[in-house]
Amino acid sequence: MNKPVNCRFFYGDYFRGKNKEECRLLAANPTNQIAWKRSHCDSCPVPEILISSNSRELALEATIVRKFLRSQVEVTFAVCTRHMMELSDPRYCPECAAEQNRSAGEDA
Ligand SMILES: [Zn+2]
Repeated sequence: MNKPVNCRFFYGDYFRGKNKEECRLLAANPTNQIAWKRSHCDSCPVPEILISSNSRELALEATIVRKFLRSQVEVTFAVCTRHMMELSDPRYCPECAAEQNRSAGEDA
């Protein structure tokens, strides 16, 4: 059995011998053409994006793309739901950055 993945979109159900694993991010994208496998998590950028993004209310859309000999998860769309703003870089929302600067100034 694979270890559960430390990712908010990963879902594993091993109860009573079940071995169901799912990526809820990809399951939510009906246009994804390549079936998700647990091994896609090993090269997936999403957990790192969730940790490093300055947006705390990040909504992502992802798909699996084939690259040469392997397939991997790629983020196709990122939105800061706090500011309803599409982000070209999912790791950075300029509005969240401005808020964080402002509150940093208040603390000083
Ligand atoms: Zn934001």
